Amino acid sequence: MVEQAFGEFRRIVGEEFVLDNVEKIRRYHRCTIPVERVIDGVLLPGGVEEIRRIVAIANRFNIRLYPISTGKNWGYGSANPVRDRNVILDLSRMNRILEVNKELAYAVIEPGVTQRQLHDKLTSGKTGLMMDPTGSGPACSVLGNALERGYGITPYGDHFAATCGMEIVLANGEVLRTGFGHFGTAKAANVYKYGVGPYIDGLFTQSNFGIVTKIGVWLMPEPERFEACYFSCDKESDLGRLIDALRWLLLNRVVKGSINVVHRNRALTMLTRYPWEEMSGETPLSEAVYSQMAAEKRVGAWNGVTALYGASEEVSAAKKVIKRLLRGKVARINFASEQTLRLAERFPKLIGLLTGMNISEVLKVLKPSFAMMKGRPGEVSLPTPYWRMKKPVPPRDIDPAEDSCGLIWLSPVVPMTKENAEEFIGIIRPIFARHGFEDCITFTAVNERSFDCTLPILYDKSDPLETKRAAECHDELFRACMDKGYIPYRLGIQSMAGLVGGGDVFWDVVQKLKQALDPQGILSPGRYSTI
Ligand code: ADP
Repeated sequence: MVEQAFGEFRRIVGEEFVLDNVEKIRRYHRCTIPVERVIDGVLLPGGVEEIRRIVAIANRFNIRLYPISTGKNWGYGSANPVRDRNVILDLSRMNRILEVNKELAYAVIEPGVTQRQLHDKLTSGKTGLMMDPTGSGPACSVLGNALERGYGITPYGDHFAATCGMEIVLANGEVLRTGFGHFGTAKAANVYKYGVGPYIDGLFTQSNFGIVTKIGVWLMPEPERFEACYFSCDKESDLGRLIDALRWLLLNRVVKGSINVVHRNRALTMLTRYPWEEMSGETPLSEAVYSQMAAEKRVGAWNGVTALYGASEEVSAAKKVIKRLLRGKVARINFASEQTLRLAERFPKLIGLLTGMNISEVLKVLKPSFAMMKGRPGEVSLPTPYWRMKKPVPPRDIDPAEDSCGLIWLSPVVPMTKENAEEFIGIIRPIFARHGFEDCITFTAVNERSFDCTLPILYDKSDPLETKRAAECHDELFRACMDKGYIPYRLGIQSMAGLVGGGDVFWDVVQKLKQALDPQGILSPGRYSTI
């Protein structure tokens, strides 16, 4: 059966775009979480018509297809399917930017369009528009991240919120266009999200209801003025008061984008490696060595970063409000424009004296994070998975899955209050400690009312015992967060089976929708679903 189906697939996409031997599919197995699936093969279709024909064959021969855009879902399963014996539908060849509308500030793109590609198109075409990058690097898909409801830090940071209009190949081979897109005459298909009638776009995010082949993405005009803002606190206990101030700034729209609050431990993973020598090979990292490293790198207990975008007057006014609100709550606050960055590069000692920061160290992270906030995708977050690795971080094109790094993400959502943040920290810290890992917290304001807390479990994948402990640590964290009501906004492939079902009406409805849209269950079985 499978062989016959592959014969058909070859006829559809061509010999070179069917991968079915171990060697060729090896890279699809590579995964930073301790999970590896049996993959029956990989198909790389070149367009919608081919996908429709593939879907017909899959129904006929009962083949399970697992669509990915670029497969860089690191820390959540990379390109691996949720269950064994799937055929990966790699859409990376479908990488056309179909439209960039400068006036209305949007683009229409295919799944394989990478962050780098979109950024380059916007800058080389002098469009005056910018994209919102996510932290997973220039080579990852814009569409794939939006479907997982990922985010960045600019005012267009909620990636699903910034989509408008989808094209989807359904499991029966029909092509669905959402919003106004299904009216052939529609003028506003990519500028008005809801269309008329039920709004169904959300059904195709974090689901297994269809293969998304096109998406409209809203873009932001390059601001007249841009300034990044960096602040830090010295004490762990400063967090509560800081959160109250940040919530006010967000709810009152003084800050239009996101705010990241990065714990010392996490900041150090971006700046340096695990100090194996100082620790004489022992893990986890001791508080004494942590304090010493933080002092050396001038990293605070909590380190905040955000940016201001807008008209010049607006940015000046926002700076004043931020300074007033954060006075007495942070130990340091600095704003950085292009000019100040250039100055810091030229006179690191002087600026270091003025700001109390180790400028050459700070610049290593500041420059790429600054560029990201200006819409340029970068690799500033990608050294984190190398924390416990004994080999160096590649200078560019960082691929933690390729380098066998150990990284498991857990991303619970925490209401933006002092009480919730403190309770949450109290839950997760002892679990990390018990399993011998460093807790590396980042709170990201995904909207004005909640933080997504990204928690990486960083481990050495070449050590089987440590790998086992990492999986156990993740599972315990997951259970504890669920018990206390801090539910993750997104799941790794290892967690889906445990979350869905259980007689919950929500998952029953999801199952009914799945049965209606994909009666044979050929698409991504088990993905946020019981079937
Ligand atoms: P990225 O490289 O941006 O992390 P992926 O291609 O890994 O994105 O996508 C993340 C997840 O979203 C995939 O594992 C897959 O389940 C789902 N997905 C990605 N692209 C599509 C698509 N075009 N249609 C349906 N589901 C998709």
